Amino acid sequence: MSTFKDFRNNIKPNWCPGCGDFSVQAAIQRAAANVGLEPENLAVVSGIGCSGRISGYINSYGFHGIHGRSLPIAQGVKMANRDLTVIASGGDGDGFAIGMGHTVHAIRRNIDVTYIVMDNQIYGLTKGQTSPRSEMGFKTKSTPTGSIESAIGIMELAISAGAGFVAQSFSSDLKELTSIIEQGINHKGFSFINVFSPCVTFNKVNTYEWFKENIVKLDSIEGYDPTSRAQAVNTLMEHNGLVTGLIYQNKERPSYEQLVHGFKETPLVNQDITLEKDTFDQLL
Ligand code: SF4
Ligand code: MG
Repeated sequence: MSTFKDFRNNIKPNWCPGCGDFSVQAAIQRAAANVGLEPENLAVVSGIGCSGRISGYINSYGFHGIHGRSLPIAQGVKMANRDLTVIASGGDGDGFAIGMGHTVHAIRRNIDVTYIVMDNQIYGLTKGQTSPRSEMGFKTKSTPTGSIESAIGIMELAISAGAGFVAQSFSSDLKELTSIIEQGINHKGFSFINVFSPCVTFNKVNTYEWFKENIVKLDSIEGYDPTSRAQAVNTLMEHNGLVTGLIYQNKERPSYEQLVHGFKETPLVNQDITLEKDTFDQLL
C-alpha cells in the first residue's frame, strides 16, 4: 500500500517560499495515498501558470499542457484510459479566463475528472496582473488605479452550470484540503475544487491572514446541507464566496461515462459512441 511519500519525486519545486501551491501539492499526494492509489493509477494534468508546474512535482503520470487547456487534455486522458484517476489542475487565470469555456463545458459534460484550481486572485507567473478572481478596485501593474471589473463568483457559476461536486478549501488548512480532494476523487463524475492558495509575492491583499479573518468554514454552520443547491448558492452569496468545505454534492447525477453506451466495457477508441437509449429515457 502506498503512502504520500510514494507520490514524491526528486524535483524541487521552484515556487516562492510560502506559496500556497506547496500545500496543494502535499494534499494531492496525501489524498492519492489515502484513497488507495498507486502512482501508476494517477495522472495529473496541468495548464500554464505557477500552479501549472504541479504536474512535474508529483510522482505519477503527468502532462503539462498549454494555457487554459488542462481540462480538454484531462478529459481525453480519462476517456482513453478509464482506469486512471485523473486530476486536472491550474490557476484562476488559467481556468477562469482563457480556459473558462472548457471549465463550464467540462462541468456540464461530467466526465469523472477532479479539477483543482489554485486560486490566488492574480496572475503570478507573469509577475502580478489582475485576474478574473481579483476584486473590483484591486491594484496591480495592469490596473494601477484599481480594477473596474468585478470578480467572478466561480462557485455559484459552477453550481448553476450543473456541477455534481463543488468544494472549496484553503492552503493553510491541509487537513480539510486533503479530505476535500479525497472526496473529489471518490465522487463519480466531475469534481470542482477551488483552493484559496495565496501568492505571497504579488498579492499583498488576499494574504494568509486575510483569508483566516474572512473564511467561514461550512462545518461551523449548523444544519448546513450540501445536498441542497439552493442553500449552497444562498450561503455562497451571503459570505461573498468565502466559505470552505463541501459546498454541494449530487451523488445521483450520472457521469458521462455511465451514459455512453459500452464505455464501461472497452476503451472508447473501440466504441461506436451512442447514448444508451433506455438509460437516457429514464433520466428525462
Ligand atoms: Fe506562488 Fe506567487 Fe511565487 Fe507564483 S509568484 S510561485 S503564485 S508566490
Ligand atoms: Mg492565479
